[in-house]
Amino acid sequence: MYSPHAALIGGRSFDQCGDDLPLDIEAIRADFPILSRRLPNGKQLVYFDNAATSQKPKCVIDAMSRYYEEYNSNAHRAIHTLADEATAALEGARDMISSYFGTSSDQLIYTSGATEAINLVAYGWAREKLGKGDVVVLTEMEHHADIVPWQQLSIDKGVEVRFVPIDTESFTLDMDALEVALDGASLVCVVHTSNVLGVRNPIEKIIEMSQSVGARVLIDCAQGAPHERIDFDSLGADFIAISAHKMAGPTGIGCILVKKDAMAEMGPFMTGGSMIKRVTMEKSTFQDGNAMFETGTPRIAEAIGWGAAVEWLNQFDMGEIHDHINDVASWTAAQMREIPGIKIYGEPEREDSSGAISFLHESIQSLDLALLLDEGGFAVRTGHHCAQPLMDALGVPSTNRASFWVYNTMGEAEAFIDHLRYIVERFS
Ligand code: PMP
Repeated sequence: MYSPHAALIGGRSFDQCGDDLPLDIEAIRADFPILSRRLPNGKQLVYFDNAATSQKPKCVIDAMSRYYEEYNSNAHRAIHTLADEATAALEGARDMISSYFGTSSDQLIYTSGATEAINLVAYGWAREKLGKGDVVVLTEMEHHADIVPWQQLSIDKGVEVRFVPIDTESFTLDMDALEVALDGASLVCVVHTSNVLGVRNPIEKIIEMSQSVGARVLIDCAQGAPHERIDFDSLGADFIAISAHKMAGPTGIGCILVKKDAMAEMGPFMTGGSMIKRVTMEKSTFQDGNAMFETGTPRIAEAIGWGAAVEWLNQFDMGEIHDHINDVASWTAAQMREIPGIKIYGEPEREDSSGAISFLHESIQSLDLALLLDEGGFAVRTGHHCAQPLMDALGVPSTNRASFWVYNTMGEAEAFIDHLRYIVERFS
C-alpha cells in the first residue's frame, strides 16, 4: 500500500520518531521556508505571532502537495486505487493524531478547528443533555470560541452561564471563586492556556474539582497543544478541543477528543452525507460513534498535513520545546519591563507560561506600535485577541502581543528589544 506518510521528515518515518532529538534551533528553522522571508521593505521577517497561528514546516506543505499531485480523490467513497489511497491517508492521519494525543482513533472527531470543536459539544452534547436548571461554568479568560456557544445555549435552552473571575494581580484564575461556581454545575469549560496572557491553568486540579461535583469538563487546548503534550486518556477530561494550525499543521482542521461515555450521549450536529446509515424520504438513521459527527467530504488534505505536523513534532521532547520558548519569552519580558512606559499583562517569566507577552505602551497607541514594529520586520498581534471579557477584566480595549514558538531565537528577541527601545525613544 502506498504510504503517504513515509519519509516525510528527512527519511524518518513515524515509527522511527521515538527517540527525541535535542533541540537544534537552526536546524528546526531550516524546516520552515517562510522564516527566511524578507518583507517588501527589505526587512528580515521575525515572526512573533505564533499564538494566532504557527508557521508550517516543509514536510507539512509537501505532504499536502503530494496528496493533490499524486492521489487526490474523495475518501470513504469509491473503490478505485486513488480513493483507497486517500482513505488510507485520511485514516492513517487519524491514527497518528489520536495516538499523539494519547487516545484511540474512535475518540477523535475531525472538525474545522477548536471553534467548531466547542460548537460540536454545545450542539451535539449540551443541547441533548442540558436545559433549565443546568449550569455551565466558564472563566473570564476564555476565548470567544468558548463563550459565545454557551451564551447561545443559554438563550435557546435556559441554561445558566457562570464566569469564574481572574485575579488581575497574578493573572491567574480565582480558584476559590471556581469552588463556589461549581455548586450545581453540569459542565465546566476552561481554557488550558490563555492565548492572551500565556497563563497555563491548573487543569488537572480543575478537572478533578469539576468531576467531584459530577460535572463534565471541556478543556480548550487550542493554545496548550502547541506547548505541551496533551494526553487525553490520562488527563481524564470529557472533551478536549484542538486546532491544528497553531501546532505546525494547516488551517481548516482540528478535532474534539471525546470520552466514550460522553460520545454515547451525543446527537448529530451537522447533518447530510457521510454521517448517515440510511436515508429514505421519510427519515434518516445515523452512523454510530465518531462517524455520526463527520459530515460531507472530509478534510483530506488538511488531515494529511496535520498528520505530518504531529510526525514532525514527535521528533522532539515537548518539555524541551516549552523550556526553549519560556527562556526566550522570559528574557524578552524582563527586558521589556526596563523600557519606560511599557506595561506587561501577565507573567511570561513564570515557569509554566507559554511564551505570550501581552503589552501596551502608556502613550503610543497599540495599532501604531504594531505598525512601527512591522516596519522593523516584527510580526506581532494587536487587538482584543477574541477575549473581550478578559480585556474588560484587565481594563483595556486591546493589547499588543508578541508570542513565541520553537523556531524563535534569542537573536530575534534581542533585535525586537532594540527596535522596541528605538520606537519608544523616538515616538513617546
Ligand atoms: N481557543 C483559544 C484559546 C484560541 O487561542 C483560539 C484561536 N485563537 C481558539 C480557541 C479558536 O481556534 P480556531 O480559530 O482555530 O477555531
